[in-house]
This record gives sequence, C-alpha cells and structure tokens, in this order.
Amino acid sequence: ARSSPFIDPGPRTTEGTLALVHLSRDNLQPVYLRGSTGAVDGYAEGNVINTRFGSFPHSTLIGVPWGAQVRASIVDTGSRGRKKKPDGNGEAAPEDMTESTAAEEEPTAAAGVKTAASGFVHVLAPTPELWTMSLPHRTQVVYTPDYSYILHRIRARPGVRIIEAGAGSGSFTHAAVRAVFNGHPDSESKDTGKVFSFEFDKARFEKMQEEIEAHNLRDLVHITHRDVYNEGFLVKDGESPEADCIFLDLPAPWKALPHLTRASQNRKSPLRADRSVYLCTFSPCIEQVTKTVEVMRQLGWMDIEMVEVAHKRFNVMRERVGLNMPTERGTNQTAGNVAEALARLREVEEKAREFHGRAQGAGANEDDEMDVDEAKAEVTANGQVANEDQDGDDAKPWMLGRLIHRTEAEIKTHTSYLTFAVLPQEWTAEQEAAAFESWPCGQ
Ligand code: SAM
Repeated sequence: ARSSPFIDPGPRTTEGTLALVHLSRDNLQPVYLRGSTGAVDGYAEGNVINTRFGSFPHSTLIGVPWGAQVRASIVDTGSRGRKKKPDGNGEAAPEDMTESTAAEEEPTAAAGVKTAASGFVHVLAPTPELWTMSLPHRTQVVYTPDYSYILHRIRARPGVRIIEAGAGSGSFTHAAVRAVFNGHPDSESKDTGKVFSFEFDKARFEKMQEEIEAHNLRDLVHITHRDVYNEGFLVKDGESPEADCIFLDLPAPWKALPHLTRASQNRKSPLRADRSVYLCTFSPCIEQVTKTVEVMRQLGWMDIEMVEVAHKRFNVMRERVGLNMPTERGTNQTAGNVAEALARLREVEEKAREFHGRAQGAGANEDDEMDVDEAKAEVTANGQVANEDQDGDDAKPWMLGRLIHRTEAEIKTHTSYLTFAVLPQEWTAEQEAAAFESWPCGQ
C-alpha cells in the first residue's frame, strides 16, 4: 500500500499526492497534484495553480524532489478570465492564492502565448506543522506550540493509542498520528500506534474522513461520528480502543470524563487496563478548567496540573538605514527616508569622532568602527544602498544593517488552558498478591 505523505513522502512528488506549495513566509497552499494525465477542466496541461507569483501547472510540480524550487510557467495556461478555478482537490483555492497572475491583469491573449512570468514557489512535503498552517479551518484549531507540548506530556510515542475528541479541523489529529506511528499500519494489534478520533458534527466528520482517506492515513486514524458526552468512546460493535492517552478539545470536557473510567462489572472501558493513562483537556476559560478538575478528582484522576503555553514569536532582522525602516505598522516597509538616513550617518560619525578623540593611543573600539562602515555602506545622498561590494562577488545584502529583534506587535498568547492528569494503572487482587510474593519483604 502507498504510504502516507505525512509519514513517508518518498524522495519526489508524485501524481495524486498532497503537496504544500510555499508561496511566501506564512503563505502555503495545500494542493493535491493531479495534472500529468492530460487535459483537466479545459486546461491542456492539467490543473494549474494561479498565484500572484505566476501560474504553475501541476504537471510542472509532479516528479520533482521535495523542496524543489519551481519557476512559473512561461506559457499562458489559458487561465485568463477564469477566476477562482477549482483546484485539484475539487475546491476553490483560497482567494489570496487565486487572485493571481499578472497574466490575468494583462489584456487577454490566446492560450499558448508566452508571458513574462518570473515568480517561483517551493514544493514542500506535508508535515503536521505545515498542515496546521495551511489546512482549511472548520473550527478553532490547536497550533504547534500547544500540541507539541501536549503530546510530550501525555507521553504520545510510537505504538501508543490516543483518543481524541472533537476532531474539529484535524490539526491535532495529524500531529498525533505522526507521534504514535510505529510502522505497522495494517496490524490490529493493541501495540499499533493509532488515533481514535470522535466528532459529532456530521459535516466536519465527513470532511475529516475525506482528508484521512486523501492523506492515506485510514489505517492509523479511526474516526467515529459520535456525541461523546452521551455515547462515550467505544468503537465499532462496542470494541475498546484500549487507549494509553487522551486529548479532549471539547466545550465541556467534564461531560465526557464519566466515559473514561476503568471497567466496571457492567461497563467496558475504552482505556488500556495494564498501564497508567495520561489525559489533557484543552479549554479557553478558567471556569471550564474548574469544572473539569472537580470531576477529575471525583473519578480518581491524579497529578492534576494546569499549564498555559505562552508562545511568543520573535522577528529577527537587519535594520537598514534609509531602506526597510521598521515602522509602527510593519517591519519591511521601504521608507526611503533620506533625511533620516543622513541624520543617522551624521550621528554615528560624530560618536566615532568623539570616541577616537578620547581613545587615541588606547586602541579603537571595533564596534564603533563597524557602525561607521556599515552606515556609510548603506547610505548615499539619495538613500540607496551604496555598498561597494554590492555588484562584486562579495556582495552579501543579507549581512547589511544592524541585527535587531522585535516581538509581534500584537501578542495574543492565550490559546487555552491545558489541564493534565493521570489515571493510575488498574490494580487487581491477583496483581497485589503477585507483587507481594515477588517483593523481598513479602518472603
Ligand atoms: N482539536 C481540533 C483541531 O485541532 O483541529 C479542534 C477541535 S474544535 C475546537 C472542537 C470540536 O469538538 C468541534 O468540531 C465540535 O463539533 C466537537 N464537539 C463538540 N462537542 C462534541 C461532542 N459532544 N462529541 C463529539 N464532538 C464534539
């Protein structure tokens, strides 16, 4: 069986697989590559991705090494006048992707005419992280900083079985499946890593099913259409998932907890009996946490702890005088402010003169010297970069300017509260007796 592109993408892109087309930072487009089989929807080259960087027939993206840079088609693909063409997966691609093509903005010309397309994209193999950035959102999703910590704390590792509810948009599902995969996708053994996912919204459940199928994860993700508050977590014909760990991203996790207990005389348990079970609930409000913890305590969960992941992204960049001046609204706006640039140059030179006056005979300060050189290199009377290296072999534009960092202007750190707990291993009278026998003090 073909393996999932999330687990083993192979060395090159192939027909029918999911690829993530990287357009620019934070801008990825998921694409199911279908195009080499000839005309699709009237396009001679098969499906085409139209972006503002140019047009990319799928046929140019198939059979290339993952990570390859692909240049825009120099041939008009016939996309003119066709806005929001459905992509290979049968859905309209997001608007900012299809707004596209310098070509569409030019006067109409016949298909087959050469255009001046010059952009490029990179074709990336899918990973849970990139999928989280690019997946079609049906709900709020769990992001990478949270799910990486959660998976670590609930001890998700190759071979374990996770219960997840609700499935939502499948962001957590994809990260979980990679964490538990242990190379036996066809086995029904309870040591086969697997995700048991539950979702009560019919449309979301169906979309998830489609995606799991398209990503070739059907042997590793078992998705059930279910209201877990009322119907619990047993799967087909009342079988137990025998889960080692649980992740609940539900509005009322405390309503699901009574179904996550050890077996009783008249009730099967969805949990693995011979191990401790690790749980995380994910709730945005503290009132939800309070209710959840109360029920956890009643049901024998231990080591209860609440954590919040306050993730903060730092932008590291070079500050260039006169060019790319950081502004209130953004960091990459070309200001071209000549007066400011010259003022900065004068200030730096003045500081250096002062310093050298003082430091004569005592050795020069390297930093100050560098500052002057850098500033001179960057600024000319018209505010343009004038580094003499610019046109030479040693030109390193990315090395110009002072290295600075900034945090995102609006830091929205709160996602949800993560409440962790452990349900200890079941301990029968026989196990107690056996342990007593083997214990040195019991002899
Ligand atoms: N963790 C998901 C992700 O990363 O994409 C997002 C989950 S979303 C915030 C919560 C989901 O729980 C929704 O899709 C909702 O339909 C589902 N849900 C709510 N109550 C449920 C219930 N009683 N049983 C099953 N699913 C439920």
